[in-house]
Amino acid sequence: MQIQFFGAARTVTGSKHLIQTNQGIQILLDCGLFQGMGKYTDSLNEDFDFLPAEIDILLLSHAHIDHCGLLPRLVANGFKGTIYCTAATMDLARILMLDSAGIQEQDALYLNKHIRPGEPLHEPLYKEEDVIQTLGLMKLIEYDEVLQIAENVQVRFTDAGHLVGSAAIHLEIEEDGKVYKISFSGDVGRYDDLLLSPPAVFPPCDYLIMESTYGNSLHKDIEPFEEAILEIIQDTCVRRGGKVIIPAFSVGRTQEVLFALNNLYNQGKLPDVPVIVDSPLALEATQVLDKHTNLYNAKVKHILRNDQDIFQFPGLRFVQHRQESMALNTNPDPMVIISSSGMAEAGRVRHHIRNNISNANSTILMVGYCETHSLAGRLKAGEKQVEIFNEFYNVLAEVRSISSMSAHGDYQDLMRFVSCQKPDTLKAIYLVHGEYETQQAFQKHLHEAGYKNVEIPAFKEIVKI
Ligand SMILES: [Zn+2]
Repeated sequence: MQIQFFGAARTVTGSKHLIQTNQGIQILLDCGLFQGMGKYTDSLNEDFDFLPAEIDILLLSHAHIDHCGLLPRLVANGFKGTIYCTAATMDLARILMLDSAGIQEQDALYLNKHIRPGEPLHEPLYKEEDVIQTLGLMKLIEYDEVLQIAENVQVRFTDAGHLVGSAAIHLEIEEDGKVYKISFSGDVGRYDDLLLSPPAVFPPCDYLIMESTYGNSLHKDIEPFEEAILEIIQDTCVRRGGKVIIPAFSVGRTQEVLFALNNLYNQGKLPDVPVIVDSPLALEATQVLDKHTNLYNAKVKHILRNDQDIFQFPGLRFVQHRQESMALNTNPDPMVIISSSGMAEAGRVRHHIRNNISNANSTILMVGYCETHSLAGRLKAGEKQVEIFNEFYNVLAEVRSISSMSAHGDYQDLMRFVSCQKPDTLKAIYLVHGEYETQQAFQKHLHEAGYKNVEIPAFKEIVKI
């Protein structure tokens, strides 16, 4: 049997790991999109380096686009097997893959408009119909259910606590009279997540393919989010009559902000100002997260006993249509606008930032990770002038940030995740989904904890087990 690493190898996107048994069964773990790999990104996403038609089974850990974003291309290129995932992952993957198909079709249209004579037309990686076909191949699996997915192959998913429906995947494969236990962590969440249950303990395995995104860092103490956002809304909207603009990823972070605002409303503390979520994707994601409240942690379940709508409160409005979004620009009233993208690199939030950046009464509030060169990152770094849509703007609005939760655990969370496995029975750990330097540091942490055979496979490297 062998495992080959076709993505998220010494990097953090493009998650794809292929297990091939001696009997010729091919199981692909995730099929994620590569992002931010510079000039190589396109070709990495276009060519699989394996034959999609030969893959028998796809096991999907969760719905983030760097884990599921190439599934429709896999299907368009001949994959006809079954995709196993949890119900929440399927619901989220549906809206994220459709969104991704839309972005790609728009990008291709834009590029083809500006094409030079003689250049070939740009094709999207996949289209909406490929997403629909992909959804038709999905079969649901529940946490802790044991499923026979091929002759001599059993699988079980456990909660990874990283995104609603996210899972670690555990395989038992019988080959030549021997049972091989292979686990894949997917992305590992935090043990103190605002909404989700902590990552579950999983059964003993021989080989562990493990993420390592924050393998060498500890998350800073989280500020009390509710108190911090309340103070900012009071100061900006009530005292100065301005707007609070919050760039936030539509899936996950937006709902965490809504959850905090809903808690403030329930406590009678939320000022009477409109809260606008300006993102069609965020509306769909909120509906999905609303549907799967059984997956939340004990604290959230406690709140749910008295409040069925943990993301909804009076004064909240979702904006879908572009005209409605544009109408917000000329509305002078104080309000809170939550809009994507999270790093303000694209999407409607750039318009809201442009319209408020030179208004000293408004506040731009960052609530998530911002890459240094992104618009949100430059604002967070205190730049006094920024370029938006090819024009320069003086930053007169207040710029604030609240250190908040990452969906990934830090290295202590990762060590806790692996601690259910005994160092003397685990034959090997393969680190994936991390930058190489971080992985080397995490490898050291694991060595110190007694896990001896820790490898960091390179892109397309094969390990025989
Ligand atoms: Zn993820």
